[in-house]
Amino acid sequence: MLKIHDLVKVYPGPVPALQGVSLDIPEGIFGLLGPNGAGKSTLMKILAGLLEPTSGRVTLDGVDVLASPEKLWPRLGYLPQDFGLYPHLSGEAMLHFLLELKGVDAPGGRRALARELLARVNLGSAARRKVKEYSGGMRQRVGIAQAIAGDPRLIVIDEPTAGLDPEERLRFYRILADLAQDRVVLLSTHIVEDVARLCPRFAIIRQGRLLTETTPARARGELDGAVFEGRVSPAELQEVGRRQRVIQSILVAGSHRARLYAPDGDVPRGFEPVDPTLEDAYLLQMRDDDAARAAEVA
Ligand code: ADP
Ligand code: MG
Repeated sequence: MLKIHDLVKVYPGPVPALQGVSLDIPEGIFGLLGPNGAGKSTLMKILAGLLEPTSGRVTLDGVDVLASPEKLWPRLGYLPQDFGLYPHLSGEAMLHFLLELKGVDAPGGRRALARELLARVNLGSAARRKVKEYSGGMRQRVGIAQAIAGDPRLIVIDEPTAGLDPEERLRFYRILADLAQDRVVLLSTHIVEDVARLCPRFAIIRQGRLLTETTPARARGELDGAVFEGRVSPAELQEVGRRQRVIQSILVAGSHRARLYAPDGDVPRGFEPVDPTLEDAYLLQMRDDDAARAAEVA
């Protein structure tokens, strides 16, 4: 269990990047979902021992992570958002080098371990190819291979799917789901689908604050029977927006396809009930947070 208690990070400026974040994260994949600038990378760097928080506590299985980061390192796997590569090395040589840096060894030697790890992330047949020839998804899989080296208890993965095509993303999901057995995997993302596909639990973070912590099923379930979809003209949309909470709208061929949140079911003609999605829940959270902030200012 990873316990994060009242974590605060203020960068010089001052920029309040984390404003008191608390989370209990059990084994399995936990999603940290939030827009750019929410504080995801800041949180993950602190967990990885690369950045000192302004205040707060973090424990992993009861051990204070911040007081003794060196105790955590052997049990930690970290894939940073900007995972650097050595383009002229082969995948195998690069991983071998990273294992050396990390101080991870294996009975059969690092070379053999590098090959074994590459096979686990489906890069066995590309092990000898230069990293510069790898696709974005293959590069991210090298990142995962180095993160799981040494069988860490905690894996922290920062926005791994940004920039992957759908096929690579699915492959990446399978690998992550596989390795989440018996360990804590914290995955940050701004992509709702990552959470919907992978995470039994997740939290939404925005402007350094947690807005909610829940499960995808519960987040959707709370909107059951309250989401409607229909088409309206741009003028009608304005009118609807005054009375209803518009979750999202897309202008398609001159009219808006809009989704509304209307718990009382009082919607304009032509709107039909639809199954709520996790995206609906996420967008509504953002909207409500905007409204709450506007009310604070007023
Ligand atoms: P995310 O990963 O969710 O996009 P970050 O943790 O990178 O968010 O950033 C959170 C906030 O902190 C942003 O406003 C960002 O501009 C700011 N920030 C991040 N790193 C620094 C830094 N080194 N110095 C000052 N401000 C920073
Ligand atoms: Mg980030």
